Amino acid sequence: MEHLSTPARPRPAIAAMSSSYARLPEHFFARLDPTPVATPRLIKFNRPLAAELGLDVGGLDEAALAAVFAGNLIPDGAEPIAQAYAGHQFGHFVPQLGDGRAILLGEVRDVNGRLRDIQLKGSGRTPFSRAGDGRAALGPVLREYLISEAMYALGIPATRALAAVTTGEPVYREQRLPGAILTRVAASHVRVGTFEYFAARGDGDAVRRLADYVIGRHYRELAQSRQPYLALLQAVIERHARLVALWMQVGFIHGVMNTDNTSLSGETIDFGPCAFMDAYDPATVFSSIDGRGRYAYANQAAAAQWNLARFAETLLPLLDPIPERALELANEAITGFTARFDAHWLTGMREKLGLATAEDGDGELVQALLEVMHLTAADFTLTFRGLADVASGAHHAAAGAPFAETGVFDEWILRWRSRLAREPREAAERAAAMRQVNPAFIPRNHRVEQAIEAAVEREDFLPFNDLLTVLSRPYEAQAAFAAYANPPAPGERVLQTFCGT
Ligand code: AMP
Ligand code: MG
Repeated sequence: MEHLSTPARPRPAIAAMSSSYARLPEHFFARLDPTPVATPRLIKFNRPLAAELGLDVGGLDEAALAAVFAGNLIPDGAEPIAQAYAGHQFGHFVPQLGDGRAILLGEVRDVNGRLRDIQLKGSGRTPFSRAGDGRAALGPVLREYLISEAMYALGIPATRALAAVTTGEPVYREQRLPGAILTRVAASHVRVGTFEYFAARGDGDAVRRLADYVIGRHYRELAQSRQPYLALLQAVIERHARLVALWMQVGFIHGVMNTDNTSLSGETIDFGPCAFMDAYDPATVFSSIDGRGRYAYANQAAAAQWNLARFAETLLPLLDPIPERALELANEAITGFTARFDAHWLTGMREKLGLATAEDGDGELVQALLEVMHLTAADFTLTFRGLADVASGAHHAAAGAPFAETGVFDEWILRWRSRLAREPREAAERAAAMRQVNPAFIPRNHRVEQAIEAAVEREDFLPFNDLLTVLSRPYEAQAAFAAYANPPAPGERVLQTFCGT
């Protein structure tokens, strides 16, 4: 009967794809292809990232690229799977989540020799979809594209966006919306929730297999360690302590720090209701589903520590055969998060203030600034960026909005200047260094919303593309885009953000 079947479209060979995750035991995932969509259309393709991944897409026209990144055309060597995981969501354990609307196509080795996952998000139902439709709406796809790429440009570990396509099919949320698919690139998609999935089933073998996989993929240097699983726990704690400090130093609020959104590689993952703070207030929350502020700006270190404690629990049997001893080791490691976070925070804040040396009072100096900022609802980004001008000699009252408005900064500036007097660097060198850690441009909520609205309401992708351009060089002045540095006008302020589901 073979001669009667429609010839399959040839699978494009875009890379030497492998699938190390699909070599793990079969109950780690489900094998299935993405569900094809009606009329894929390429919205955005990240060519620099494609080059970094070593993809060979020269022979593919736009229609072929759209077909590949919509899941209609499976690349050669791909072994599509949906991964199983569980997770604590807002403190409550859900024993089965999993890729309900994502398909991992496989992995490629990038030009730096690192293995990277290529995953379609919004690619149809899977055995993990529960009540969901397996799809994504265009708005959240563009949002993730913008913010994950902005994080990367800011120098913060994050998953990347390789492509965005529209599907030509509607999705139904509160309203009818255009459907879309995001191609996400990650160091891997293993989450704390992946460990919890097996631990909750009492599947110790699977936990060990997964831990070995993670060590082999992300922490190779630990394989020879005397206690590799304890070393793994400590290394993951270290990466997240640094990550959350980096987030907070650009005013980023993840918004949904559940354990299924806590990656083992230490990358920022899942850009649902995340947002950047404009006016500084440590209690800031944007997510519509975070009514109690569990994941508020200033709670993020504690939330990460809580998530890592859930990770530690899954590793207990691997840490020591004596349960009391295992618990002791885990507790010690988790308690150590605080000191690691504090150290990363202070190191980063010293850089933001232009301090190249360390003194005992620096923490208080940082705290005093944040208190003034809080009191005056100063814009987080403009304040730090403006300090670079002040550092290069300008009187602070002339250094822009946060400083000009009131006299409340006067005292702090004096204190800072007297601290700078004990610094070895020249003013110009210091100011230049400060501009490399204090961005001029962040994905401000109102700009993100405007870009999404133009795309969704009017199929106008110009604002999206402009914003992406500005955000690709966040530390450069970019005079032509100066308006993108501005905080929202009162009428533009975005007070709430929503999950993409
Ligand atoms: P998230 O809020 O994106 O972290 O997703 C939490 C869980 O819900 C994951 O297991 C997702 O795969 C699943 N999920 C989210 N949206 C959908 C959807 N539209 N269809 C099926 N599953 C979904
Ligand atoms: Mg998630």
